[in-house]
Amino acid sequence: MRIYQRTLSTWVQFSGTGLHGGLPSFARILPAPPDTGIVFRRTDIGADIPATIENVVDTAYATVLSAGGAKISTVEHFLSALCGMEVDNAIVEVDGPELPILDGSALRVAEAIDFVGTEESNVRRRFLWVYGKEKLHLNGSMVAVSQSEGLDILATVDFPGTLIGKQWLKFTLTPGSFLKEIAPARTFVLREQIDALWAAGLARGGSLENAIVVEGDRVHNEEGLRFHDEFVRHKILDLIGDLALLGRPVHGFFLAVRPGHTLNRSLVEYLSGFDGPGHEAETSCTEGVRLQVTA
Ligand SMILES: [Zn+2]
Repeated sequence: MRIYQRTLSTWVQFSGTGLHGGLPSFARILPAPPDTGIVFRRTDIGADIPATIENVVDTAYATVLSAGGAKISTVEHFLSALCGMEVDNAIVEVDGPELPILDGSALRVAEAIDFVGTEESNVRRRFLWVYGKEKLHLNGSMVAVSQSEGLDILATVDFPGTLIGKQWLKFTLTPGSFLKEIAPARTFVLREQIDALWAAGLARGGSLENAIVVEGDRVHNEEGLRFHDEFVRHKILDLIGDLALLGRPVHGFFLAVRPGHTLNRSLVEYLSGFDGPGHEAETSCTEGVRLQVTA
């Protein structure tokens, strides 16, 4: 992993549609000085919302952040692209309440960062190192964390009776591996879940252009899958985006069994020492995690 903090060399921009609100959305990622972190800026109402675990207010269908009464929704794939490409500092401007979903993956954002490149500062990154072991459980999902020299993730998904079935993948983060192996993996939904989402007023911007729709042993998307195990790759993409809410890079090995945003949120709260309202996960302490932040 890189030692010094980085930001983008210049700005990049994206236009598209918000996944849940279905409204047009325009976003621009701007360079920022060291120790800014990732900050979402609502240009329509003039509000800044730092991407930190303290500002997470919802994880049910998308990660929603709020600060000073302003909200920004569906931040997870932008955060994953920034964290995956090892961008420490950036301002993400957006002209409404939700980021554009783009193609349902992190590919366009990661490619844009790769295209313009990043600039190194002379300020060191403050890594969070995990020592010891810990496990968190929630509704049949589990995430276990232990020591590692970098950021390593082994994730599984299990959707019996569907094309997805059981998948697992081990991934070690570098910007190159993120761009190639994880960023292209799209979000997915089971066909039978769609009516309930629409009835709840969600996924109004959802389409075959920005999600894989799975029904039994087939996908509805004409172009098919980008990887045979695209589903578990997207779960890794989501976990990387949620770990970005630590506000600093992490060294650890994460074993994530059927992970989801709510469990990931509890994990990040635990790692950051934040005693927030998302602590629904029941922790079964083994040796306990000892954390060390290096300057
Ligand atoms: Zn996702």
